[in-house]
Amino acid sequence: MGKLLFIVVIAVLVYWIIRTRKPNKKQIIELLPDASEDMVCCEHCGIHLPENESIASQGIFFCSEEHRQNYLNSEP
Ligand SMILES: [Zn+2]
Repeated sequence: MGKLLFIVVIAVLVYWIIRTRKPNKKQIIELLPDASEDMVCCEHCGIHLPENESIASQGIFFCSEEHRQNYLNSEP
């Protein structure tokens, strides 16, 4: 009976480790961004952000759709 309880405890522990590992792995990736990733500058507010998170328009980068619209609206 004690052996069965031991196996159950191990199974729960393994399950818990697998479950808690997934977000941890994601956190590590976020903490160590790919060094080769290109950083771009928002034309409207000047904030720096990764190129893949930016919105590009006519070769110009923006941090958000709102800033893209603001910039285009302010164009003569
Ligand atoms: Zn911006």
